[in-house]
Amino acid sequence: MAFLDEKTNNIVFNDKDKMSAWDNAPEISDADPKKYRVCMYCQFPMDYSDYVMNVKTKHSKDAWTIDLINIKKPKLVPKNFLAIHANCFGNRQNENEKRRLRKYRRTKWMMPKEGYKKSK
Ligand SMILES: [Zn+2]
Repeated sequence: MAFLDEKTNNIVFNDKDKMSAWDNAPEISDADPKKYRVCMYCQFPMDYSDYVMNVKTKHSKDAWTIDLINIKKPKLVPKNFLAIHANCFGNRQNENEKRRLRKYRRTKWMMPKEGYKKSK
């Protein structure tokens, strides 16, 4: 279970939290949901194998990490975890992104046409 490390002020996530965050991210209809999901903040794909737990750690520009869906009630529970790009961290629109995420999960996402390459 995730916990807040009060020394560093970072949330420490375990493998189960990682899986929950990934499973909460919108699926891409023409890609394997175990491998690719959509980052809600930029709407580009994330690759499951490219994970970083802490955004302050050195990571690739496409790496994904875990954010909280609702920071108004920042509960460290699986349904509040969401996979997003580490580089998109902080790009939320609302303190509570639950409604937006629900809408995005109903949206039909497709992989970019020229294969998976991001322009960030
Ligand atoms: Zn992103």
